[in-house]
Amino acid sequence: MTVMVPSTTPALITPGRQALDSALHQLAHAAAHLGLDDGLHTMLATPRRSLTVSVPVRREDGRMDIVQGFRVQHNITRGPAKGGIRFHPSTDLDEVTALAMWMTWKCALVGIPYGGAKGGVAVDPSGLSTRELERLTRRYVNEILPLIGPEKDIPAPDVGTDEQTMAWIMDTYSVNAGYSVPGVVTGKPMTLGGSLGRAGATSRGVQIAAMMALGRSGEGVTVAVQGFGKVGALAAQYLSDAGCTIVAVSDASGAVHAPNGLDVAAVRAWVAETGGVAGYRDADAMPLGELLELDVDVLVPAALEGVVTAENAPRVRARLIVEGANGPTTPEADEILAGSGVVVVPDILANAGGVIVSYLEWVQNMQAYSWSAGEVEVKLRDLMEGAFAEVRSLSAERGITLRQAAHVIGVGRVAEAHTLRGLYP
Ligand code: NAD
Repeated sequence: MTVMVPSTTPALITPGRQALDSALHQLAHAAAHLGLDDGLHTMLATPRRSLTVSVPVRREDGRMDIVQGFRVQHNITRGPAKGGIRFHPSTDLDEVTALAMWMTWKCALVGIPYGGAKGGVAVDPSGLSTRELERLTRRYVNEILPLIGPEKDIPAPDVGTDEQTMAWIMDTYSVNAGYSVPGVVTGKPMTLGGSLGRAGATSRGVQIAAMMALGRSGEGVTVAVQGFGKVGALAAQYLSDAGCTIVAVSDASGAVHAPNGLDVAAVRAWVAETGGVAGYRDADAMPLGELLELDVDVLVPAALEGVVTAENAPRVRARLIVEGANGPTTPEADEILAGSGVVVVPDILANAGGVIVSYLEWVQNMQAYSWSAGEVEVKLRDLMEGAFAEVRSLSAERGITLRQAAHVIGVGRVAEAHTLRGLYP
């Protein structure tokens, strides 16, 4: 098989390259399990479209900076491409390609009619003023404009972007079109056609997946959450609401630990006031890496890729890992964890709640209609529980891990769609 994958710096194994290697490794396992031929495997390993753009940004002091941006559509066989946009200094084409590939399998796994995409800009948003961020967002969107659209490719929030970013994307696209196009992006503010339940959807999905994997109530269950951003903070809140004891949380500012349990709402209020969990009064500070090795029942990585590795996996004491983040566990770590009986609910299942409600938002936008919070929650729960049950049953039937089962289902559906459509011309 010849796999043409982009590489930024061949001599250097970047975090992005590691993420792409993980994604390709997972695909190879699923392809072998499904008996896919080499041609189809190669097609699924290769992004359909990749765009790298230079984004000039006018700074407040008049200087002009140029940053790199990316949009990758990995696969569009089952429907329009779908995937978030990340603003992070270490984002590169390899990382965005890996994230786009995971989106393809995720949408297929939960049965929504989308392909997979991802976007990114290699920038630290915390170093920019709001006006600089707006100019950057609008210029980046303008550069990727030929690719996106409500029937072609629909972005959403990811690391370093939020509802305001989505509002600027919607406006930039709409101004170019000459009319309002809410369906071009999801995760928008409610006033611009956002969906009830979208802001907490990924975290709600993480909670649903965690409770299904636990198979019991949250009473007496201890949890550590790495990454206290959009996904992690609300995942901690919902797990706490379900009766779990959240003993530690972390973000880029530091980690805090309270063996008897954190008041998650109070930590969220502290973060809203100070910008990070560090210094939260009713807990002890702890080194960032130690959170991953705490003696807890459940570990929720909800920050970035490649944090549970061959190096630290032998020291992971959680019995269950529920991946809020995309790609937090390397394939080598997966093997070690499986060997020591740690159950991993994989990213493409555990964090699928976000894209499920993004899909619901898009459906509402395309019909100029809106559903109640209750209707959205029921649909989200149905799709999450259905996908979880399918993955669990295939894993038990074939004696493979939950991640392998999730990939066999997701990759299998995309492969079937390719086979049914045939090859043009
Ligand atoms: P975010 O930017 O809102 O939050 C990221 C958090 O991670 C921040 O709190 C940041 O401080 C923290 N962080 C960064 N480096 C860290 C470190 N070394 N240790 C501990 N914390 C660290 O991003 P998000 O939207 O919450 O995304 C988090 C993860 O979830 C990503 O992998 C993303 O792809 C995935 N995801 C997000 C969504 C969504 O709807 N936003 C959906 C599916 C998956």
